[in-house]
Amino acid sequence: LNRRLAEFGTTIFAEMSALAVRTGSINLGQGFPDTDGPEEVREAAVRALRDGLGNQYPPGPGIPELRTAVAEHQKRFYGHLGLASDPDTEVLVTAGATEAIAAALLALLEPGDEVIALEPYYDSYAACIAMAGGTRVPVTLRPAPETGAYALDLDELRDAVTDRTRLILLNTPHNPTGTVLTRDELTAIAELAVARDLLVITDEVYEHLVFEGEHIPLASLPGMRERTVTIGSAGKTFSFTGWKVGWVTSSPELVTAVRSAKQFLTYVSAGPFQYAVAEALALPDSYYTALRDDLRRKRDILARGLTEAGFRVFRPSGTYFITTDIRPLGYDDGFAFCRALPERAGVVAIPNAVFYDHKDQGAPFVRFAFCKQEKVLEEAVSRLRAL
Ligand code: PMP
Ligand code: GLN
Repeated sequence: LNRRLAEFGTTIFAEMSALAVRTGSINLGQGFPDTDGPEEVREAAVRALRDGLGNQYPPGPGIPELRTAVAEHQKRFYGHLGLASDPDTEVLVTAGATEAIAAALLALLEPGDEVIALEPYYDSYAACIAMAGGTRVPVTLRPAPETGAYALDLDELRDAVTDRTRLILLNTPHNPTGTVLTRDELTAIAELAVARDLLVITDEVYEHLVFEGEHIPLASLPGMRERTVTIGSAGKTFSFTGWKVGWVTSSPELVTAVRSAKQFLTYVSAGPFQYAVAEALALPDSYYTALRDDLRRKRDILARGLTEAGFRVFRPSGTYFITTDIRPLGYDDGFAFCRALPERAGVVAIPNAVFYDHKDQGAPFVRFAFCKQEKVLEEAVSRLRAL
């Protein structure tokens, strides 16, 4: 393994899911739903396979049906904020959000460029910045004493920008904290990006999983459309994490740049699933509302259960993750806690320290996923109460 990747090893998600299988534990670690997405969307994939749609290389930017569906979905949910994309020049289909993140960083960074990322950050960010030869500059989100919600310190963000800063890599709704950046926070980020002439890659894969407040796409703010690469994914919104269908929307120039990198990573993304996701995106508003309401209920079950079990819970406004503080239980090392938890309680969780450069900042925090059936969450809670 070369020096750029040496520090990364095996992802925590693979490690913890293997541990869950080995110990027969309830897996609240890796974020994947234990119920597959809509039947009619699965049928659409089967139909595409049978009818020979996409069984050979589809077009590089994605099939026109899916690019159109991405643009229409954007208009339906964010058109009132002024967002619109041309499906021919401003949409790119990718192999999940993961490829979109990698391709965007590989396309836009010069070696030595600095990238600001909100810490704790999703694990692939650090690895992809490294693969692109960039330098990551973390800005730490911290729980605000008054509200208990993780918040961005805007002064810290402004201070992190240097002459070498090329871009900000943002994620809202935010994994693992469940924070949804507010209009004020996003406005400040946008003003900074414009003032310092920065690009922003914004990972909005949890855009529909918002329980309180509102998801505001950064690209909808003044001056941002032409400097923002927005990333979405069917994995989260339609509960098909195994299909690996994601997309990028941006200006024609930035989409062309990201496509240049994508061509040599995967060339194209899997064909039949693109037809199915095009149909999924067109599902009525009621689908999206039901998904959110179902996950809100699950959040409440897990948040209450974890609180009763003695964890300090940071109640998430979005995503399907809950970050907890284990110190009230008498522990302060999340890694040790998560490695022992399967044996002690038959539950798997993720130590947030893996999402930090400043490991000490993340040490006492542990993440649980709630995209699971209610009976599974209730069983996990009863096991954790016996800790
Ligand atoms: N970004 C974030 C913040 C995520 O949580 C995930 C999935 N866990 C991804 C990107 C990757 O998405 P995909 O599965 O579509 O590659
Ligand atoms: N995004 C998912 C999570 O945060 C996992 C994705 C993965 O395993 N790479 O749990």
